[in-house]
This record gives sequence, C-alpha cells and structure tokens, in this order.
Amino acid sequence: LFDHQHSLDPSDWDAFRRQSHQALDDMLDYVATIRKRPVWQPAPQSTENQFRSGLPTAQSTLATALATFQQHILPYAVGNAHPGFMGWVHGGGNVVGMVADMLAAGLNSNLGGRDHIPIVVEQQVVRWMAELFGFPHDASGLFVTGSSLANWIAILIARTSALGIKVRKQGLRAQVPSLTAYASEGTHGCVAKALDMSGLGSDQLRRIATHDNFRINVAELQRAIAADRTAGLQPFCVIGNAGTVDTGAIDDLAALADVCRREKLWFHVDGACGALGMMSARLKPQFAGIEQADSLALDFHKWAQVPYDAGFVLVRDSQLHRQTFAAPAAYLGRAQRGLAAGSPWPCDYGPDLSRNFKALKVWFTLQVFGANRLGLMMDTTCNLARSLEQRIASESELELLAPVSLNIVCFRFRSQHAVNELNSQLVIELQESGLVAPSSTEINGQVAIRAAIFNHRTTRSDIDLLVDTTLRLGRKLRLAGVAS
Ligand SMILES: *Cc1c(COP(=O)(O)O)cnc(C)c1O
Repeated sequence: LFDHQHSLDPSDWDAFRRQSHQALDDMLDYVATIRKRPVWQPAPQSTENQFRSGLPTAQSTLATALATFQQHILPYAVGNAHPGFMGWVHGGGNVVGMVADMLAAGLNSNLGGRDHIPIVVEQQVVRWMAELFGFPHDASGLFVTGSSLANWIAILIARTSALGIKVRKQGLRAQVPSLTAYASEGTHGCVAKALDMSGLGSDQLRRIATHDNFRINVAELQRAIAADRTAGLQPFCVIGNAGTVDTGAIDDLAALADVCRREKLWFHVDGACGALGMMSARLKPQFAGIEQADSLALDFHKWAQVPYDAGFVLVRDSQLHRQTFAAPAAYLGRAQRGLAAGSPWPCDYGPDLSRNFKALKVWFTLQVFGANRLGLMMDTTCNLARSLEQRIASESELELLAPVSLNIVCFRFRSQHAVNELNSQLVIELQESGLVAPSSTEINGQVAIRAAIFNHRTTRSDIDLLVDTTLRLGRKLRLAGVAS
C-alpha cells in the first residue's frame, strides 16, 4: 500500500480505498449492532500486552493496524455508545457526527486562525448558540475540549473583569484583597480546579449550601458574599449550575442573575451537561435566567450526542473575552487580505493556538437533526428518568436518594447493614454484568447508584433491565453477607 518514497500517501489508492471503506463499514456495523454486545467488559491480559511493545520503527500495514483495532480496541471501549450505559455523564455519539469528524480529519484544518471557511463555520455555531441562549448577536464563543476548559476560560475572563487586563502582565502578586467566587455544593470539581489554575486558589471558592432539591440556597449565597465583603475580601464571580453532575439540579438562574447584578459580580453558568436542554420546548422554562449570564460553559459531547470532544464557551462581552487572551506575536501578524486576514482569530479567545475542526461535527449534527429533534431526544431521556423513578418507587427494596430534575436518577438498594458498602459493590457488579453500566456517587454521605440517562439509544427496556438486574444482584449480595 505504501512505498518508500517521500510522501505518506498510498502508492495504490484503489487498495487503500477498499481497506478504508471496509473500516467505515465495520464501524457502522459496530454501531448498528451495539445492543448485542456487552456494555463494557474488562480486557484480558493478552490485550493489555498488545500495547506494551516499544516504538515501531519499521513499516507495517494498514491491514495489521485495522485488525488490532477490531480485535483489541473496539471490544474494550468504555461502552458509552451502548444504550445500557448510564454511568457518569457521557453522550452516546452519533453516526452523522462520526462522518463529519472523518471529513474534518481529511481536511486537516487548523482553526487557530487565518482566513478560511472552517472558521466561518465555527462562527456560525457561535451565533447559533447566542441565539439559543438569548445572548447578544455579537457574543463570542470558542470550541474547547470540554467544560473543564470552558469553565476555566470563563473564570479567567471574570478575573480580567474584576482586576483589569493588567493582571495578565502583573499576575496576582500585587493582588490585595483576594478574589472570592461562589457556587453550590453540587458544583463540579473542575470549577474549583479552574480557580486553582487561575492562580486564585481553590480555597477561594465558597461552596454554598443547597435546598433539599439540590438547588443553591440564594439567601445563604447572599450571606456568604456579605461576610466576605465584611472580611475585606473581593467577591468577583458566581457560578450557577444548569444541571449539576450528581443530580441534574438546575439552580434558580434568574435569582442568581439578580444577585450578580446587584452585587456587580460576574455571572457564569456551568451548563456542561444540562444547558443544551434549551433545545427542548418543554425543558426550556427551567433554565430561565440563563440568558442573563456573562458566560456559559457547555458540552456538545454529552446530551447533544456529538462525538468526543466538543466543549464550548459562550461569552457575552466579546471584547473582554479577547482582552483576556489575545497576545500579539510577529509570526501571527494579521493582514487585510490574503491568508492572514479575518482577524480576530480563535486563538485570540483562548489558550489554544492549534485547534482542530470540532465545529464541523457539531455543525453537521445540528444541520441534519435540527434543534427541535435534538430537544425531543432530550425529552425522551427525561421521560426515561421519570419511568425509572416510578419503578424505584414501586420496588420496596429500592429507594430514591435525590429528586429527579432532568435525566439523572440517584437511588440505592435498601439494606439494614453496611448499606454504603453493599451499594458500592453493587455498582461494580452491575458494570461487570455487561448488561447495564450505572456509576456511583454520594448523596449526603449515602452511596448512590447513579443512572445518568444521556444516551439517545436508551429505551424503556434498558430501564427495566437496570432495575431487574439491580434487584437480582442486590439480593445476591445481601444473601452473601456483603452487608453484614
Ligand atoms: C461533565 C461536566 C463538567 C466537566 O466537563 P468536561 O467536558 O468533562 O471537561 C463540568 N460540569 C458539569 C456539570 C459536568 O457535567
């Protein structure tokens, strides 16, 4: 297929075409028949050993690499494409996005900057998001790997807003008093990490208590802000949740927007797993207030089913966004015409310079399915969460541990003894069953089986399988005395 000339292109395009078409067909077969496979299975040692050999120096063949993929990689993925996967917060992917990603790889575009249509495509998605979330038409946005980075970018812009752009040169050395940020106890760990990576320190994130429904207690928030001001600190940012990772709780975003306006604080929303629920007419009212955010982080790779990775940050004030990241360099000089036109460039809006064309798989997914269809798919996952909630209520051996806001259900198998140990073990056994794969979390110190229903392939039969298998394995563990 490949000869020893300079280029890495095939010498026999027809043969390469046959093999690559076959690879595409094999992948489509995998997705089309995924239900017949285990959700997840541990890899045998022989497979692990496949990936312990040293750097290949000599030429091999595409056929060999494809065979290794089929035999040793494909069967041992985490399983989030499978309808029985309910662990953590993972999207299922979609085949339209998969084809788009292949096209993007073929183009091999670098979206750091310069004047080309791939950036225009990314900008169109930015405007679509501004439209969806009721942001101004000239809001800025940027694709990043995930909401961990999107939240970090937002915290850095909020830092610029509070301290001015001089902080970029001077750092925080001269910074008294210190900045403080606020978010509910249910906030994802990447927000504290964002404060850490911003040099502000994760201790400066105040974790505000929540109500029984896991929404932030706004009165507590106001007390915390007042206490910090009294102590001579400088509150600068409130982070609201549009779907917390543990329970899917949506904070009262309108109330948070009010607090931020009154207190002159930056209002950021972590909408990683929930915000795209705005595409559903039924869910949209729950997000009221999101349109007032200064910045918003979200993930297309979760509920919107775009293949990994496709995180995104949307920012109301594009100028402040640019001032936080733009850094002139001679080799990145701009021009009025030619390839160096089209300034500002995406590299002016974030830490990345080289960037792939993530926007294409998002653009294709939105073009082909449309926002309404995606919204209905999200409704369906919420309906499934409701039916799971109902089945839990009807089973005396199960109990719900948190109210169901969206599509995440936290519950456990009841036990008189060692209930936390039993449920931790139960989650592992469920995963090892290959039938369903929830994950675990802790709700008020109680170990929960967490079913996050984010996969568009999941149906009512998968919910029943989860409940039936939980009951079967839970009873077995109870009998075996794991809980005594
Ligand atoms: C997943 C998630 C994150 C982190 O996003 P990544 O895309 O994994 O970086 C942050 N916040 C919430 C609420 C999440 O669900």
